[in-house]
Amino acid sequence: MDVAIYPGSFDPITFGHLNILERALDVFSEVTLLVAINPNKQSLFSREESMEMISEAIGDWPQARVDFHDGLTVDYARQHNIRTAVRGLRAVTDFEHEFAMALTNRSLWPDFDTVFLMTKAEYMYLSSSVVRQVAEMGGEISQFVPPCVSRHLRKKFGYA
Ligand code: ADP
Repeated sequence: MDVAIYPGSFDPITFGHLNILERALDVFSEVTLLVAINPNKQSLFSREESMEMISEAIGDWPQARVDFHDGLTVDYARQHNIRTAVRGLRAVTDFEHEFAMALTNRSLWPDFDTVFLMTKAEYMYLSSSVVRQVAEMGGEISQFVPPCVSRHLRKKFGYA
């Protein structure tokens, strides 16, 4: 029970995600960030780009890993015998969606549970989509994302 996956789009990974990961590593001995395709979201970064940025961002944490899965999170979890997912909660607006997803996953695999960790107050309104919007307009993003992500965003939007 001491390993977990942290599934998400991570498009791109932000300090909010990393704050949840840091908290999760206090609870679990190993956490895999699982880059999952969200069919409702058009992604800015490719799987390779996301995995490269995440690998660099988690480089200081030997108990953190990154992987990719194109399908149901519970299928990945079952294949790897991991029964716990970690998700982050920001404002109450996250709650409805997260609750629905956690219960759906549990009905797909009754042994599967989701643990919610609350973000640091300063990251409460930080999301990948806000970061993408600020970066697209050439705004300062270094307070939101690690340097490797800033670099990729500036390149993507032609500000490199
Ligand atoms: P998804 O498309 O699966 O929601 P995201 O990458 O947007 O993927 O989010 C993955 C998880 O990280 C979600 O549980 C989300 O609530 C959480 N998360 C995103 N940004 C933050 C943040 N600033 N603080 C805490 N948790 C966050």
